[in-house]
Amino acid sequence: MQNIVLIPMGVMKLDVAGFLSLSLPEILRVPCRVLAEEIRLEPFYSSDRKQYHSTEILRQLLPLTADKKQHILGILDVDLYIPILTFVFGEAQLSGRCALMSGHRLHQEFYGLPEDESRYLQRCEKEAVHELGHTLGLKHCDNFECVMRYSNSVADIDIKRNVFCPLCSQELGIPSLW
Ligand code: ZN
Ligand code: ZN
Repeated sequence: MQNIVLIPMGVMKLDVAGFLSLSLPEILRVPCRVLAEEIRLEPFYSSDRKQYHSTEILRQLLPLTADKKQHILGILDVDLYIPILTFVFGEAQLSGRCALMSGHRLHQEFYGLPEDESRYLQRCEKEAVHELGHTLGLKHCDNFECVMRYSNSVADIDIKRNVFCPLCSQELGIPSLW
């Protein structure tokens, strides 16, 4: 991976892509830019589940991967699902070049709490690094503070750090920021 392209999809409450374009280069050590690409989400909406099919949306990013050095992260603010799970925070192609993340369940508001912008952006950052980590070939990590730890709730995400643990960094061949 030599650069990251962020593609905001649909309506975002906050400029997550703008924030990540500044923070991801520090963690992943590659340049990052935001690309405006019109991708319609309506075809992937399930009216039964009132959620959007993550894998189908991820598939929309595949034609954009002409540049082999580029990894793409789609950013949304809608509720995502895959059929076997109630919801997903994001999805990625393991050792591929496309990933997706949604901030929908990362808002404090989603849990009936007052919105906390900074906490929201921190969670988005961890989710973004996690999904991009999968595209770099990393699987889930047992270290509960590692960004590659599997998270099933925002509590899990809040415990994690926004960087790879020394073992995951070693696997990626990048200096550890631990
Ligand atoms: Zn994961
Ligand atoms: Zn790790």
